Amino acid sequence: MNDHRRLGRELGIFDTDPLIGSGLPYWLPAGAAVRKAIEDYVYELERRNGYQHVNSPVLGKRELYERSGHWAHYAEDMWPPMRVGGEEFVLRPSLCPHHALICRSRPRSRRDLPLRIAELGGMYRSELSGVLGGLSRVRAIQLNDGHVFCAPEQAAQEVSAALDLIEAAHARLGIRAARYRLSLRGEGAKFVDDPAMWARSESLLRDVLEERGRAYDEERGEGAFYGPKIDIQIEDPAGRESTLSTVQVDYFQPERFDLRYAGGGRPVMVHRSVVGGIERLVAHLVEAHGGAFPAWMAPVQAVVLPLSDAELPAAREVLRRCVASGLRAELAPADRGSLGARIRAHRLVPYQLVVGPREAASGGAAVRMRDGSQAGEVPVEQLAARSRPFG
Ligand SMILES: [Zn+2]
Repeated sequence: MNDHRRLGRELGIFDTDPLIGSGLPYWLPAGAAVRKAIEDYVYELERRNGYQHVNSPVLGKRELYERSGHWAHYAEDMWPPMRVGGEEFVLRPSLCPHHALICRSRPRSRRDLPLRIAELGGMYRSELSGVLGGLSRVRAIQLNDGHVFCAPEQAAQEVSAALDLIEAAHARLGIRAARYRLSLRGEGAKFVDDPAMWARSESLLRDVLEERGRAYDEERGEGAFYGPKIDIQIEDPAGRESTLSTVQVDYFQPERFDLRYAGGGRPVMVHRSVVGGIERLVAHLVEAHGGAFPAWMAPVQAVVLPLSDAELPAAREVLRRCVASGLRAELAPADRGSLGARIRAHRLVPYQLVVGPREAASGGAAVRMRDGSQAGEVPVEQLAARSRPFG
């Protein structure tokens, strides 16, 4: 069974140290490479779909979270405040309040909408150490987040567009959703008490799901404190379910932050995360692909294998061209064992570039794919072009 906690360490994706603390993994070079490839892909996907990227601080004053409603409804998941001078700051439990303030920072007119802003940013959860494990439950999350501020009549279309984005990303990443869940409010103080608001946002999400013809389950008590969510659930190899991607519709925070557009309209806030937290996403990808990542996100995309020491200079030249054309590549020289042994050691690398006497003479390499098939002599620039998420 592919448990990312074992496989992730074997592959050099991440590790932990008790001195840093549980739920606070660090990323090793292979993991940082995978993560960067995914972050670049998601950034570009969002850019092509009308998002503008922003950056905002990972903490804010306690008053910000009182205003957003987190303090009243979500405090038990938040880190305790830090006092500096006469002020109290908290590590942010979500990016929404910062983005609401960014929306409010400039006058907006109806034709500026939808305003789509996105950020890959840190958020923090004060989980107890007992429930933490590997990359899938952590205390510091790098979240792919975004908020669409739109007119009420645009909200259904924006929810549907966010689901399109999520489905496109899942296809590219090789993710199969376990199920779609419509997460509704439950009882108690965890949820804003405004039945009319909930009825409106729930029916909007339900209508979008029905129109898309997508099967889903409804579950009470799983909504956000301010509104219902479409959650896209994934499963680990042991069948444990967690939420990866989400779309939420929110009439609450626009009111709390008094967001307006010219003419007196109040925008709706569509919260969406295309791929969720990067930690949980990579944990899932390690398990789903068993370490054999799609070429565009593989930590090492090409390994150059000279047949013997005689081909080492030619192999170095092939490596140089791989790196220059944008591939993450490395060299495995003949002193590391037989060709078969070196191929086995690099069995997860998508392209294995063998340089024998013939290839050394021609300046090329014979490309072996990781499934064992032979692709013949393929120029490295062509391999590089094939290894980009948008082709
Ligand atoms: Zn949000």
